[in-house]
Amino acid sequence: MSHYETTVRYFDRAAALMGLSRNMQTLLLTPEREIKVQVALERDNGEIATFIGYRVQHDSARGPMKGGLRFHQEVDADEVRALATLMTWKTAVVNIPYGGAKGGIAIDTHELSQGELERITRRFVDATHDILGPDSDIPAPDMGTNAQVMAWFMSQYQKYHGFNPACVTGKPLELHGSEGREEATGRGVATLTAAMLQRLKQSVEGATIALQGFGNVGTYAAQFLHAKGAKIVAVSDQYGGVANRDGLDVPALLQFARERESVKAFPGGDAITNEELLTSAVDVLIPAALGGVFTEHNARHVRARYIVEAANNPTAMEADEIFEQRKLIVLPDILANAGGVTASYFEWVQNRQHFRWDLARVRTELDRILIESFEKVWKIAEDKKVSLRTAAYLLGIGRVGRATVLAGIS
Ligand code: NAD
Repeated sequence: MSHYETTVRYFDRAAALMGLSRNMQTLLLTPEREIKVQVALERDNGEIATFIGYRVQHDSARGPMKGGLRFHQEVDADEVRALATLMTWKTAVVNIPYGGAKGGIAIDTHELSQGELERITRRFVDATHDILGPDSDIPAPDMGTNAQVMAWFMSQYQKYHGFNPACVTGKPLELHGSEGREEATGRGVATLTAAMLQRLKQSVEGATIALQGFGNVGTYAAQFLHAKGAKIVAVSDQYGGVANRDGLDVPALLQFARERESVKAFPGGDAITNEELLTSAVDVLIPAALGGVFTEHNARHVRARYIVEAANNPTAMEADEIFEQRKLIVLPDILANAGGVTASYFEWVQNRQHFRWDLARVRTELDRILIESFEKVWKIAEDKKVSLRTAAYLLGIGRVGRATVLAGIS
């Protein structure tokens, strides 16, 4: 089943419980706009290379559309559509005034020099700037993109539209970025993991954690969970993994990964594969890399007590059904990783008001929104006797549906 089919099935499950009409379901699911653009790049050696870029604008009923920009070799139209749809429900779950979008380029950034990365970013903006903007569609970092890419993005956008820092979020602090944005997704994952464990009457202190992906989200999630006293016992990235039952030395691992650009061969533990990490016996398993990592083939072998979906769309529908049968508690992506878009919202607000918040304010507001959203989702799950995923979809779809009906479509 494709990424998009999976998100549609999750939607269908909630829509059936809500009694949404077929026409309403079609209206809510159909993306408002999808574009596919050619992105040509002159390589450093003078050769011309051509890549495909995508932007899907799924829904704007609740406000300008918001969603990351992913540079990864596996980006395709199906994945971008799925991720745009997730953004619509995610922004609604945390109740920030946005709709959902997503974009990307099918490219392996490891093959690019910094100059090539800058040029391809600027060419993508050239091809899409007309449909983007602070009141219409606001990109942000995702896999393969970072604050530097957002700085080039803003610079190129401003060549067409003048001073406009709110056109993109996740920018560097020196260029209208926000305190706390870079750490926000990982911090949110840690905050929500602790909140969930508390509801399950288990302490985060001493809880064992396995983490797949050690990029932006994974490194900050590890740091904040470590600070809360959790034991990070396994970490992996695309090159391999490392495990230590007594708990990895997180500061040393961060230092090692910064220098080597991988956790592989970290001396403070034993080597493990990604597959071994996904099936290790831990309290909390946190996928923080690619989508589609839990499948019908490995879902029965997952031995974690709980899953916190830091990555977008990590669980294929077939795997989700197995998790539901097994009554495995899964904190779904549209809540678990919503810290990033929430802090992006704070950055956009600051840009529009030309007023800076300090880190303490960003963290306080972020924690408040995430905990409130978590408690709402938890209560719906309890009241309706559904999984946390279905509860989050019920909350998100309900809000988007009401906004759509109130505004009318004529
Ligand atoms: P990143 O590019 O900074 O890091 C990605 C990590 O995943 C790297 O450690 C990489 O080595 C690893 N990885 C890539 N392919 C892998 C594979 N095949 N097996 C194992 N590991 C692999 O990306 P990120 O920003 O940390 O995003 C990670 C996930 O979190 C994505 O699913 C993204 O959509 C989601 N997310 C990110 C944000 C954000 O603010 N950055 C917000 C919400 C959701």
